[in-house]
Amino acid sequence: MSYFDDFQVSETIKKAIKDMGFEAPSPIQEKVIPVILEGVDVIGQAQTGTGKTAAFGIPVIDKITEDPYVQSLILTPTRELAIQVAGELQKLSKYKRIVTLPIYGGQSIGHQIRALKQGVHVVIGTPGRVIDHLRRKTLHLDKVHTVVLDEADEMLDMGFVEDIESILKQVNTERQTLLFSATMPPAIKKLSYKYMNKPRVVSINKGEVTAPLIDQVYYKVLERNKLDSLCRIIDSEEIELGILFCRTKKGVAELTEALQARGYMADGLHGDLTQSQRDSVMKKFRENSIEFLVATDVAARGIDVDNVSHVINFDIPQDPESYVHRIGRTGRAGRKGLALTLVTPREMKHLRSIETEIKMSIPSQNLPTIEEVVEKQQESWKKQISNTIEENKELELYDQLVKDVVAQHEPEQIIRALMKIAFSNDNTYEDDTYNFGETGGAKGMVRFFINVGRNVNMSPKILIEEISELVGIPGKAIGRIDIFDKFTFVEVPEDVAPFVYEALRYSKINGARVNLEPAKPRPKRERNKQQS
Ligand code: ADP
Ligand code: MG
Repeated sequence: MSYFDDFQVSETIKKAIKDMGFEAPSPIQEKVIPVILEGVDVIGQAQTGTGKTAAFGIPVIDKITEDPYVQSLILTPTRELAIQVAGELQKLSKYKRIVTLPIYGGQSIGHQIRALKQGVHVVIGTPGRVIDHLRRKTLHLDKVHTVVLDEADEMLDMGFVEDIESILKQVNTERQTLLFSATMPPAIKKLSYKYMNKPRVVSINKGEVTAPLIDQVYYKVLERNKLDSLCRIIDSEEIELGILFCRTKKGVAELTEALQARGYMADGLHGDLTQSQRDSVMKKFRENSIEFLVATDVAARGIDVDNVSHVINFDIPQDPESYVHRIGRTGRAGRKGLALTLVTPREMKHLRSIETEIKMSIPSQNLPTIEEVVEKQQESWKKQISNTIEENKELELYDQLVKDVVAQHEPEQIIRALMKIAFSNDNTYEDDTYNFGETGGAKGMVRFFINVGRNVNMSPKILIEEISELVGIPGKAIGRIDIFDKFTFVEVPEDVAPFVYEALRYSKINGARVNLEPAKPRPKRERNKQQS
């Protein structure tokens, strides 16, 4: 372990770092700060939430003098990030007389122009707005000695590559260029060859940072009762603030509405909101007046809220990078975080491929049972009762009611009745699972009809492998298999049958699309014939 005192930076910065409450450098800071201080170009890679801002912020602020011109330009993908980075740099420069200015679209350009005229030392901006100022000649980059591309992967994802190139062409070539990113897609390497001078790469591999802080689990859920499963999970977890991720804007809108209808304090964030709607949602979230923020990957970019206790992937992320980005929204600033992923049977293979890429296996957890959830809720009721009594706020409003009711009934009966009234507003779980009826399988088994057979070279081995991979049950748990020319019957244990049904329905066997239906029970005669 090292200390901030070990870095060759001025005392004023060290003092500011202490004021910020940082005790020791994070791994990326420890590795990258000394290299940046050598003056060379650096690529720093570490996942979200690992302190990359201070990793470049400390050496950059250290180098800035009080000379009145722009000495450093920091590009960030979003307005939120520009504001955040500016805030962090301002704290780092607490004991220096330098000015940092965020510039981004959506804010009056006139205001920014006036601010730039007053003399700014560090500009933190989104690429579009920076270009705008360059065209108007209200921003001069000729004396910039350090350029930082922050969250470079997100900037490229958002289509800023041409803007970035055109900005870099206008900065003094003698500059030091620093690039920070959570992931390293090929486009970033390409950009770095073109615009950086023999960059040194410093990376912190994921294992070093994720594992200890962010606990990860996945739940196997059925497509058709995903929402119910989600409610059970959130009712049984102690959630301070949670971010729920959906794949699409429509998904965000639907889930937000469904949660609100069930009485959860939730609000949604997606690309179609205006900046002021977005700000108002974020404000509610920061002030804890909502408990859940429902968002798409794009909308959640740049969200930096420290006390997110849970990241819940309601929809599994598209790729490993997005998984890493999403889970990095929790476990920030050294707190504990939990990342939960809901996986439907059809998505099991996708989960496996994410695990392979992040070189880590995500453990599975069973859905809490209804009894467990109820127990948890009762615990929370007890707590709420005690808290309300302790606070003793406005309780006298009920004095007359209490007198009347106590005159009529026993106290215990009254409490039971009140609890019943209170609980009746709580969630009920529909547990809407499949009922396959009589399918002609052995006892405890459900028999399925599959619409392909020997015509696609179906074999017991292939079918068993497919089912055990998709559903995660051992091959020997699978029952009788009958393969015919154009169809197949397979028997699976009742408890996993819904998963087999959803998993296999849209999968492929030997390249052929598969459909699957619960089998019809066999007439007695046919059964005898088959067995002879
Ligand atoms: P990244 O850019 O890698 O996603 P940030 O720079 O936004 O991460 O940092 C995440 C959080 O960690 C911020 O709240 C930041 O203030 C805090 N942080 C950064 N460095 C340290 C440190 N050395 N000790 C404690 N907290 C830190
Ligand atoms: Mg960052």
